[in-house]
Amino acid sequence: MKLYTCSNCNNLLYFENSVCLNCNHAIGFDAESLSMIALVPSGDNLFSETGNASRRFRYCSNFAFGTCNWIIPENADAEFCKACELNHTIPDLSIEQNQVRWKKIEIAKHRLVFSLLRLQLPMDVKVEKEDRGIWFDFLADEPEGERVTTGHDSGIITLNIEEADDDVRMRNLMNLGERYRTLLGHFRHEIGHYYWELLINNQSPLEKFRELFGDERADYGKALEKYYQQGLSFNWMNEYISPYATAHPWEDWAETWSHYLHMMDTLETAYYFSIRVRPRPASGEELSKASVKEDPYEISDFNQIMQLWLPLSFAVNSLNRSMGHQDFYPFVISPKVVEKLAFIHEVVRSKEMAIRRRSISPGSVAAIESLNPNSKISQ
Ligand SMILES: [Zn+2]
Ligand SMILES: [Zn+2]
Ligand SMILES: [Zn+2]
Repeated sequence: MKLYTCSNCNNLLYFENSVCLNCNHAIGFDAESLSMIALVPSGDNLFSETGNASRRFRYCSNFAFGTCNWIIPENADAEFCKACELNHTIPDLSIEQNQVRWKKIEIAKHRLVFSLLRLQLPMDVKVEKEDRGIWFDFLADEPEGERVTTGHDSGIITLNIEEADDDVRMRNLMNLGERYRTLLGHFRHEIGHYYWELLINNQSPLEKFRELFGDERADYGKALEKYYQQGLSFNWMNEYISPYATAHPWEDWAETWSHYLHMMDTLETAYYFSIRVRPRPASGEELSKASVKEDPYEISDFNQIMQLWLPLSFAVNSLNRSMGHQDFYPFVISPKVVEKLAFIHEVVRSKEMAIRRRSISPGSVAAIESLNPNSKISQ
């Protein structure tokens, strides 16, 4: 994430701020320029940029619910911003608890969309382009109905909204033996399935994908069933980023993809804070240093990204342990996983891919994973 300041008074802002706590100006995020803009009301629900009265915006319609601080240029006839237009179903807001859940969900989703904008990945709205595009369904279990499974199917990303409840999410983490489970992590994983269909399936990188991740034509339902019944091989860490990545090549891709987004976003934040790590171990030995001097989105060589990530994540893990928290990044990245991450970096950066992206439509491969081992596995 970039580091934003109020364009009126220079006060530091969080990405979620809709008002500057120092000068009280309204703040909005403009997805076109990826900037946060200090605003002054100019009547009729419009706002103009501080110091530039000719640039006028209005807030996304979800601003009224406190779930969005993004702004839309006055002359665009969209009701929702780039992040909110991807919503297909939002939680039932007549239930008070859902208002809190939805806010948490939107914070994570807006951060996801910011990363996708930074990577310049295509983000069509499924409602407009049925054969491709993304939409989000934020659903709750019905008392008598089937459980809602968080997953992806041909651009439709479903989230069981109870995952916004910390107690539920932590229980699921424990039950599934996971080390990391967040709303942002869910979104980064599920969107990975979407981009597999868009960037890999029936495309030239498919061959290399199969070399690195395995053959995705293996029966998905059976693979997941086997994963939940048999558990893990003891040396999974040599080849996979997480236990769940061992279930099927699609899951390996989505897990690795989500880590790619974790790393890029975190390194971007580190870059904007000019973070440097220069360990001074008790032994006096020379250890790897990291100085995040470059925006990671501008780095073409993935090895350079890894060389920053390892010292940085070790340092932040150590800070967390000093506070009695869990590790910030509770994973070990093996050389095989570095190869997979580098492949994702290459695919995302490929210029030819940008051209091809415009002329393909993804197939209808489903990849729905279950939230708990007993729920129905669908394909
Ligand atoms: Zn300010
Ligand atoms: Zn919005
Ligand atoms: Zn998945």
